[in-house]
Amino acid sequence: MGHTLLILGDQLLREHPGLDGANRVITVESEAMLRRRPLHRQRAHLVRSGLRHLAAELRERDGLEVIEHRGAATLAEALAQHDGEELVAAIPNDLGARRALEGHGVRLVDSGQFLTAPDDFAAWARGRRRLRMEDFYREQRRSFGVLVDDAGEPLGGRWNFDAENRQPPPKDGLNAPEAWSPREDEIDAEVRADLDAAAARGVVFFGADVPRRFAVTPAEAHAVLEDFVAHRLREFGPWQDAMVEPGNPFLFHSLLSVPLNLGVIDPLTCVRAAEEAYHAHDLPLSSVEGFVRQVIGWREYVWGMYWLRAEQWPDANALRAELPLPAAYRGVESGWNCLDTVVAGVAQHGYAHHIERLMVLGTIGLTAGVVPWELVRWFQTAFVDGAEWVMAPNAAGMALFADGGEMVTKPYAAGGNYISKMSPHCKSCQYKPSEKHGERACPVTALYWDFVDRHTERLAANNRTARSVSTWRRFDQDTRDAVRARAASAREELDGG
Ligand code: SF4
Repeated sequence: MGHTLLILGDQLLREHPGLDGANRVITVESEAMLRRRPLHRQRAHLVRSGLRHLAAELRERDGLEVIEHRGAATLAEALAQHDGEELVAAIPNDLGARRALEGHGVRLVDSGQFLTAPDDFAAWARGRRRLRMEDFYREQRRSFGVLVDDAGEPLGGRWNFDAENRQPPPKDGLNAPEAWSPREDEIDAEVRADLDAAAARGVVFFGADVPRRFAVTPAEAHAVLEDFVAHRLREFGPWQDAMVEPGNPFLFHSLLSVPLNLGVIDPLTCVRAAEEAYHAHDLPLSSVEGFVRQVIGWREYVWGMYWLRAEQWPDANALRAELPLPAAYRGVESGWNCLDTVVAGVAQHGYAHHIERLMVLGTIGLTAGVVPWELVRWFQTAFVDGAEWVMAPNAAGMALFADGGEMVTKPYAAGGNYISKMSPHCKSCQYKPSEKHGERACPVTALYWDFVDRHTERLAANNRTARSVSTWRRFDQDTRDAVRARAASAREELDGG
C-alpha cells in the first residue's frame, strides 16, 4: 500500500521526492495560520494559488488523488483526518514546522530544494572563526562551476564587482522595463473569493490585494526568468542598490525570489540561464555576477545559517535591543519620507528590494533598537517572499547584528547621508539628512549617532567602526545631549507620536 504525501505551501516541487510510492496527496490551507498574525494578502494568495495549481497538475499529470484541506482550522486537525495512513512529507523549511510534523509521526524525506544541505553547510562552518558569505560564495562558484575557468578561477579575474554594482540612481531617475507578470486564471479567482470570505469572517490581512505579480507555477517561473535575462539582467548590476520614488518598485530586479522560495524553479536553472546569456549575448560580467551572487551565494548562505542556528535565532539579541516593533512598520506614518515610502511600497506590493530592506527598514530597526525577533516576524509576514529561514538570518543576523557579528563584520548602521546618496527620498523630506539635531534634524541621522553612543565600547573595539566613536567623542556635551533628545523623539515618531 502506498503512502499519503503531504505537500507544504513552500515546497511546490513538481518532482517532489515523496511522490514516489504515493497513492494520495494532501495539501492544507489553514485559516488558523492566517489568524495567528496579519499576513500580507498577496502572500496568502500566492501560497494558495501555488498549492491549487500544483493540485490540479498532479491530478492531470499523475492521475493522483489530491485532497485539499481548505479552511482547515489547524494542520493537526487536517492530519487527524488521515489517521492510520502512512504520512510522508519533505523536511519542512523551518524548525517549527519540522517539529510539528515529527510530532505527528510524519516520515520526512529530503526535499532537494536547495543546492546546499544544512549538514554540508555545517561541515563547511566547522572550525571556521568567521562564517563569511564571501568565502562560502567562492566555494559555491567553484563547486558548481559557475563563471569560473578550467582552473576554478573567476572569469574576468575577480570574484567581486561590488564597486561597479553599487551605483546611486542617476539624477534624472531610472527607467526599467515593466517586468513580466502572470495572467490570473480561474484558480486565482477562486483564491481571491476564499480570502475575501476569510476577511469577512474576521481574518485581518496586511497590505493591498492586487492582480498577482509573481510566478507560482514552473511555467510562470520560467517565463519570468526568461524576461529578466532578456530585458533586465544587463542593467541589474549597476542599479541593484539604487532606490527610487514609488512607480517602478521592481526596477531591474529579477522577481524570482517568490518562485524560488515556493520551490517552483531551481536555483541552478536561474544561474545557468544568466551564465548562458553572459556568453551568448555579451552581457556585462558585473551584472551577471551580481545576480549569481544573490542566488548561489546569499540565498544558500542564509539557508545554511538559518539551520546552523535554528534554535538560537528567536532569542538572538546581542545588542540587547528592547524596542517593540514600531507602528510605522505597520503603515502608521512617521513623517520620514524614506521609511514611509518603503513601507507604503511593502503594503502595496509585498515587496522592497534588498537595499530598501537592509538600509532603510533594517538600519532604522537597528539604530532605533527594535527587538530582533519582532522584526523577523514582520518581514516574514509582510513580504511576498517571506519565510522564517530567509528572514531570521537576514533581519536578525545581518540587519540587526543579533548574532553579535557572526555574519557581518560590523553593524549595518548608517545615517541619512547614505539614504540621500542612494535615493531621491531626502529631496522631498521635511528633514535634512546631514543634520543630527535642531529643527530639521534627520531622525535617521540622530538615531545613528545615538546608536554609536549606546554601543561605544563594542564599536570602538572594531576597526571598521572605531572612527565613528572617535567622532562622537569629539562632539561637545550640548551636541550630544541634543542628539540624544532628537533620537528619543525619533522613537516616538516611529510609533506615530
Ligand atoms: Fe529619511 Fe532623513 Fe532622508 Fe528624511 S532626510 S528621507 S528621514 S534619511
